[in-house]
Amino acid sequence: GRAMAVLTSGGDAQGMNAAVRAVTRMGIYVGAKVYLIHEGYQGLVDGGDNIKLANWHSVTNIIQLGGTVIGSARCKAFMTREGRVSAAFNLVKKGITNLCVCGGDGSLTGANIFRNEWKCISETRRRITDTMAKKHYNLNIVGLVGSIDNDFCGTDMTIGADSALHRIMEIIDAIMTTAQSCMQLLLCINCPFILCYNFRYLALVSALASGADWVFIPEAPPQEGWEDNMCSRTSGGSRMNIIIVAEGAIDRNGKPISSNYIKDLVQKRLGYDTRVTVLGHVQRGGIPSAFDRILSSILGVEAVIALMEATPETPACVIGLSANQAVRLPLVECVEMTKLVQTAMNEKRFDEAIKLRGGS
Ligand code: ADP
Repeated sequence: GRAMAVLTSGGDAQGMNAAVRAVTRMGIYVGAKVYLIHEGYQGLVDGGDNIKLANWHSVTNIIQLGGTVIGSARCKAFMTREGRVSAAFNLVKKGITNLCVCGGDGSLTGANIFRNEWKCISETRRRITDTMAKKHYNLNIVGLVGSIDNDFCGTDMTIGADSALHRIMEIIDAIMTTAQSCMQLLLCINCPFILCYNFRYLALVSALASGADWVFIPEAPPQEGWEDNMCSRTSGGSRMNIIIVAEGAIDRNGKPISSNYIKDLVQKRLGYDTRVTVLGHVQRGGIPSAFDRILSSILGVEAVIALMEATPETPACVIGLSANQAVRLPLVECVEMTKLVQTAMNEKRFDEAIKLRGGS
């Protein structure tokens, strides 16, 4: 029979457990041996007890849990060829020819490199070559995108973004209860794990969903004179309560707009008591939303089908959501496109970034 393995890597995202569960059970359902790799690429490089054969019940009672029960890690060794050779050896030893990686763009970049190197790794290492020559040569890879920031090209939604949005809504609602008095509130969506070149998906949609008064995102700087506008509108009777500032927000001249700058502005001009709430780790906390559980289940099932249908010529793919359907897209292209968007965002070429990303 065929053997496959699943791992979660990079920053954890709600819904990863549902993905691991779906891949495991669908794998068993189609008659494959399924291995759970603990601690991401680190477990793959280290091997041993980190690679465990799963049964139907290994993934019982995890769909509702946050984080990832098989562990996720950042792994320096996998960035090196030596580390990846060791990872390859650990897979070959167990006869694993199919790998499902659930992680962010870093993890999927690594998966892409691993897959491209597979043939050369086997040629440089005799111990691997011998085993491979006898049994199996190819390694099929599929990627599932687990990332709270919805920043990957190739899927309408990444696993975890919806749960993070739910968390932000809960926080905003809690803050609003206290904000009914006479306080101005600024919410700064600023996660240490989210780099400022990403599309500010969470800032934008949480502003929409909470009925925020202002939202600042890097790719849409405010009109000239926004400071006057903001302060005059407020003094006109309707009180602002929520201003959302994404990391990396700038004005039309490229000058950064920080939450503290807005806070000082509002305090100085209007004399309101103003508070800044910085959302960090808390965006990742809590339980996965229904949407993330369902998304992960649908994409996980498709991942197994893609692995089972793969031939040695099939390139590694990402399973994404497009128009409510699970779709397979070439991993290389998705990773490259995501990099192009990030570079464009870094260099403040926002129109180009939006065009590359495909609208919205
Ligand atoms: P995320 O997957 O959430 O974007 P990281 O960027 O930290 O998180 O990547 C997670 C792991 O993926 C890294 O610790 C490393 O093991 C692996 N990885 C990332 N980039 C590469 C790369 N260019 N080559 C090989 N492995 C990589």
